[in-house]
Amino acid sequence: MRVQVDMSKCQAYGLCAEEAPDVFELDEWGYPELTDDGAVPDGQAPRVERAVGACPAQAIRATN
Ligand code: SF4
Repeated sequence: MRVQVDMSKCQAYGLCAEEAPDVFELDEWGYPELTDDGAVPDGQAPRVERAVGACPAQAIRATN
């Protein structure tokens, strides 16, 4: 799985980092930075799916 964040939609709510802290790290303004260039480690996919659902801005896209 790979994950992308549409930064034109992201509103820095930070819920992605709460759901999947090993994949999303927030910068000093609360915007997510993807670890490992968006590659989702094995076992993290369920957390990323929850992040996709939790994002109020619908800014996260995950592809297999
Ligand atoms: S949950 Fe969505 S809007 Fe909030 S920081 Fe993450 S990607 Fe951005």
